[in-house]
Amino acid sequence: MRYSKIFAKTNKSAPHDADSPNARLLAQAGFINQSMSGVYSYLPLGLRVLNKIKQIVREEMDALGANEILMPALHSKNLYDTTERWDSIDVLFKLKGSGKKEYALGSTHEEVVTPLVKEYVKSYKDLPVAVYQIQDKFRDEPRAKSGLLRGREFSMKDLYSFHLTEEDFNKFYEKSKESYLNVFSRCGLDAVVVEASGGVFSKFSHEFQVKTEYGEDTIFNCKCGFAQNKEIAEVKEDDDCPKCGTGKIQTSKSIEVGNIFPLKNRFTKAFGFKVQGQDGKQTDILMGCYGIGPSRVMGSVVEVHHDDKGIVWPKAIAPFNVHLISIKNKDEAIQEKIMGICQSLHDELNQLGVDVLWDDRENISAGQKFADADLIGNPLRIVVSEKTLADNSVEWKERHESESKLVSTENAVNKIKMFIDAPDNLTSH
Ligand code: ATP
Ligand code: MG
Repeated sequence: MRYSKIFAKTNKSAPHDADSPNARLLAQAGFINQSMSGVYSYLPLGLRVLNKIKQIVREEMDALGANEILMPALHSKNLYDTTERWDSIDVLFKLKGSGKKEYALGSTHEEVVTPLVKEYVKSYKDLPVAVYQIQDKFRDEPRAKSGLLRGREFSMKDLYSFHLTEEDFNKFYEKSKESYLNVFSRCGLDAVVVEASGGVFSKFSHEFQVKTEYGEDTIFNCKCGFAQNKEIAEVKEDDDCPKCGTGKIQTSKSIEVGNIFPLKNRFTKAFGFKVQGQDGKQTDILMGCYGIGPSRVMGSVVEVHHDDKGIVWPKAIAPFNVHLISIKNKDEAIQEKIMGICQSLHDELNQLGVDVLWDDRENISAGQKFADADLIGNPLRIVVSEKTLADNSVEWKERHESESKLVSTENAVNKIKMFIDAPDNLTSH
């Protein structure tokens, strides 16, 4: 893809109200554009990242055995009358339709998924069932802030599982933790599983928290993996860790990127969703819900992986694998050669499934192109100039390294492909 063809370019200045690194860098680099507080458009580069994150989530949910569906975002008030949540979900956006009809915009989907699954599950033999969707959710958050971390419209993957027995539920719940950790590590996030409040439904839920300064949560944690949300913590800073006994409890600011909840029969009971068990008795169905915010994940990745020049994307979710730069030359013959090499690198890499963003702009200085490459943050920068041409090579610079080197033009495609396929070695900043 030629950068000249992307309509939304980088900006010199940050939005005046950017209150966190992700809000500032994603806007400046041309990934997102704020429409109003907590509501964003995804521009071409930003949409590529969001879609890559969603795809990782999708692969892990499919591997967990869940079916992807898509439920409506517009909900009838009747559904919430059934569960008595019309007035208790404080962030619910409520709308009035024609006549006296009332609706809500989906902030979560228990009210839709429970009667939906009920229609298809006729006997215990049809269980367990797990369905998920990836959709925008709407929440009238009292304080939308920190760019993609807390929006009023945001992307969520929500999964719901239905089980006949506690044992079957627990098995699935534990397996879902593994899937969640896979999602976050594939996205370049080091997530901690944290015990958190179960709300009105059950004693505990589990949150997946990423330690970052702009996070709104506080967790007490130990190096051994023990972690509790401050809201429910039974420990305090400097206590001996109750799990390993040797470590000391530390306090960390963090952001919740995922949350899994046992819902017991809270919703199935409200909708009268029961089946006849093997023993012939009517049994309440047990339910769990499991959320991940792909847009919040995107914001969190930027919080964790950036430096003073811009974003440092993990390979798996970078908008492009390679940022190719052609340096304009006044000599027509040299310029033609530079563009020719770039075109073939671009095409050959594309054929190997390596995405290339080619900064082919002719009226932009080399310095500006380098600054844009750092701001945008693709993992590998390749430069073709008169200088590299003279050496039959291209200049190679990894985004997270400060040194560049020359690689022969002949070997460039193979080396790039190998680099892109190799695992990341990014560390958090
Ligand atoms: P929080 O405590 O941060 O308000 P929550 O517990 O209300 O979040 P859940 O209902 O568990 O959130 O939603 C599942 C996931 O959706 C969260 O783990 C998070 O990744 C994402 N999410 C929730 N609210 C927002 C929001 N306002 N903006 C962006 N992502 C969000
Ligand atoms: Mg939560």
